Amino acid sequence: MTEMLYFLDCYLKEFEATIEKVTDNRFVVLDRTAFYPESGGQPSDTGKLVRESDGAEFNVLYVSKSNGDIVHEIGSENVSNGLKVGDKVKGFIDWDRRYRHMRMHTATHIIANVIEKEAGAQITGNQLGIDQSRVDFSLEVFDRDKFAEYEKIANDLIARESPVNLYLVSRKEAEERLSRLTTLAKGFSDEINEVRIVEIEGVTIEACGGTHVKNTEEIKGIKIIKLQNKGKSNRRMYFTLLD
Ligand SMILES: [Zn+2]
Repeated sequence: MTEMLYFLDCYLKEFEATIEKVTDNRFVVLDRTAFYPESGGQPSDTGKLVRESDGAEFNVLYVSKSNGDIVHEIGSENVSNGLKVGDKVKGFIDWDRRYRHMRMHTATHIIANVIEKEAGAQITGNQLGIDQSRVDFSLEVFDRDKFAEYEKIANDLIARESPVNLYLVSRKEAEERLSRLTTLAKGFSDEINEVRIVEIEGVTIEACGGTHVKNTEEIKGIKIIKLQNKGKSNRRMYFTLLD
């Protein structure tokens, strides 16, 4: 299993690693990585790997999980100079993209929690993006006017400058402590025995494998930009970040 350096240190931008597997010249597994693989509604990181022996650069286009491995997809333009098992590399993640996703992810936990508490909605899914993020939820009575109020509550919580704590607990402990494992937690596969907890002090505590900011002040604020009716009781909300 790849050691997941992003799990407890979301601010790690560079790291050193050794190549353990290469498939089709393009799919690279390292012994450890700070690259976040797409999961739980959070897109993968991008960036580059630089080989220590000759300084050759390899673009990382996409990162995914596969049977406990984290697989880095290398750009086709880099294939001829192929990476090999045992090569030592330095990894650099595209920080602007990742940091945006971190702010979006912590913001999603906050606004989703507000919609749950204030409207009694049930969160059914989420998808983070650079420009906007989406929260899907189930809600019988859909009062659009209320969402300006929910936005304000979320922004007041963000302005409290609450610390965001990340820690690992056993799966059993997580199931006992958390009354629910939300859809935001679906990045975990069944064979994982440890569960990563994300606690936004005074706001919410849940199981989540994503990357988060250290303090809610880094989010700055959110703006709800679109509300959609998806039939029956299915609703969709889009929001963006204030800069
Ligand atoms: Zn999450």
